[in-house]
Amino acid sequence: MERGNLFIISAPSGAGKTTLCRRVLKKIPDLVFSISHTTRSPRAGEISGSDYYFVSSEEFDRLVCEGAFIEWARVHDHCYGTSRKEVLYRMEHGLDVLLDIDIQGAREVVSIFADAVTVFILPPSLSELEKRLIGRGTEDIAELQMRLDNARKELRAVEEYEFAVLNDDLDRAVTDFTGIVLAFRNRTVRTLQRPGLAEALQIG
Ligand code: 5GP
Repeated sequence: MERGNLFIISAPSGAGKTTLCRRVLKKIPDLVFSISHTTRSPRAGEISGSDYYFVSSEEFDRLVCEGAFIEWARVHDHCYGTSRKEVLYRMEHGLDVLLDIDIQGAREVVSIFADAVTVFILPPSLSELEKRLIGRGTEDIAELQMRLDNARKELRAVEEYEFAVLNDDLDRAVTDFTGIVLAFRNRTVRTLQRPGLAEALQIG
């Protein structure tokens, strides 16, 4: 079986990453979302086991000690971790896996999976980012300010990413991101892993 690809998507809070990911996941078969663990409290409408696994700090520390995470990081004062089991099992079963993680996590994952594909989602401007963050109304003033300060720092990391998708128009950003995922499915090395293809073409 062909091994799936890892897609890492990062963006500052408010860049529209969650909506974008949801749309892309609906469009592309065999692309699955890696559900992270977090110590952050759920926002209205968020479901444990769907958006995140919401856990206590004690439970998170226990999972860290057990080696349950490929990477974990403290982001905006909360802990977030990528489940090793969840990611590896799915990749081994030929699924492409989408990781929505911050820049620290992205650096860590790329150091382990050198062929992971990195995509940064850019908002059209800082003022638009601020407007979107205030508009969604999910953070209190202190958390909002911290997320905006962090956004300025995170944006400087964009050049570390292979792709940068500008989210000034959601439909176009969805098309662009979808294109990246599909292009990687057609890499020669991956296509030639299809069972029996190289033999059928007598190029194996
Ligand atoms: P939020 O609290 O807005 O859902 O996420 C805050 C930040 O944490 C986002 O940048 C998101 O990409 C990042 N994040 C979510 N899950 C993980 C994870 O498992 N590892 C790391 N390093 N960052 C994560």
